[in-house]
Amino acid sequence: MPPLGPIRFLTIHCAATPEGRDVAAETISSWDTAKFGQVSYHYVIELDGSVHATLPDTLKGAHVGGRNTGNLGVCYVGGVDKAGRPKDTRTPAQTMALRALVAAYRARFPDLVVRGHRDWPGVAKACPSFDVAAWLAHAPEERA
Ligand SMILES: [Zn+2]
Repeated sequence: MPPLGPIRFLTIHCAATPEGRDVAAETISSWDTAKFGQVSYHYVIELDGSVHATLPDTLKGAHVGGRNTGNLGVCYVGGVDKAGRPKDTRTPAQTMALRALVAAYRARFPDLVVRGHRDWPGVAKACPSFDVAAWLAHAPEERA
């Protein structure tokens, strides 16, 4: 895998797995390897809020078409309802873990741009099934 390059973006994804289905990070990675020939995301956050580093943050992922240079990919398990429709299914533990991960990278890279997959130009997907900018603008859940 080629190097990631200087970190400039962090893109949030969902796995598009049904609400409540406990899919392991390594399962997501194996699906991506079968589909794209490599692990797509740098981090996968499971339902219990555990954060799995699936790819070193020095290597390029495969998660936004043509836009993976300097772009970290973070995926939470879930993202659709039981009928397959887009839904923010993040558990409180996932939401807190995601916020902590974003905060850690923002601390290291103050100019980091954090957005959802769907916020990239030309992306016609609902991923990650929530409004990243609006969520980031809110006070942390743990203080709500
Ligand atoms: Zn995505």
